[in-house]
Amino acid sequence: MEKSLIDAGMADIEENYKRISEKIACAALKSGRNPEDVRLMAVTKTVESVYINHAISLGAGLIGENRVQEYLGKKDELRLEGVEKHLIGHLQTNKVGKIVGLVDMIDSVDSVKIASEIGKASLKLGITTDVLVEVNIGNEESKFGFDPVRVSESIEQIGEIRGIRVKGLMAIPPVCEQESEVCEFFANMYRMFLDIKAKKSDNIDMNILSMGMSSDYEQAICEGSTMVRVGSALFGKRVY
Ligand SMILES: *Cc1c(COP(=O)(O)O)cnc(C)c1O
Repeated sequence: MEKSLIDAGMADIEENYKRISEKIACAALKSGRNPEDVRLMAVTKTVESVYINHAISLGAGLIGENRVQEYLGKKDELRLEGVEKHLIGHLQTNKVGKIVGLVDMIDSVDSVKIASEIGKASLKLGITTDVLVEVNIGNEESKFGFDPVRVSESIEQIGEIRGIRVKGLMAIPPVCEQESEVCEFFANMYRMFLDIKAKKSDNIDMNILSMGMSSDYEQAICEGSTMVRVGSALFGKRVY
């Protein structure tokens, strides 16, 4: 019997999921780490619900969506029981009230202002929202996130905000031609992560270092990533 387009897509996702999981484990072992200390996030932006559900059925227990609107449009079609959901894209102030309470973590806190808005919205619901602080590790104009030299003091400020709990850092390094270049950005992130963790500030529970995407997750793991965010290597090329 000929495979339908959907069946073909499903088979690819299954194969990709297995391969990526293996590569994550290999990269962890190669760098002397426990494979269980690195989590795979399936990045689901632009992906149709049927494929996301397939990934979930294969064992993907953590998903990341970029846009509030897209997530709200899809979430009722998703089989999300037991699945951890994160928002990973830049969040605008006017969307905060729509998303707080509907995801388990907001990984893209890129200003003190957005952190306090998330805090306010959380207090209104009587909850605490876990967040990651995004670092613009390459200091690129085109990217969101805190300037690496200010992260430490900004995190102190964010730590004072009620209604949120800082769980770690997130970064997207610049596109690099050389593997050694991207590794250096990841290594800088890891140092920053350890420095902040060592300070043991109240309300800051540095446990997650989210870095590494389809093209560089193995390198990120070698440099200390605890969460890799993989989209196209899992679901195929995105069609916008
Ligand atoms: C899209 C996206 C990813 C995944 O990118 P791929 O290269 O497709 O794996 C990871 N993180 C963020 C923040 C993204 O927006």
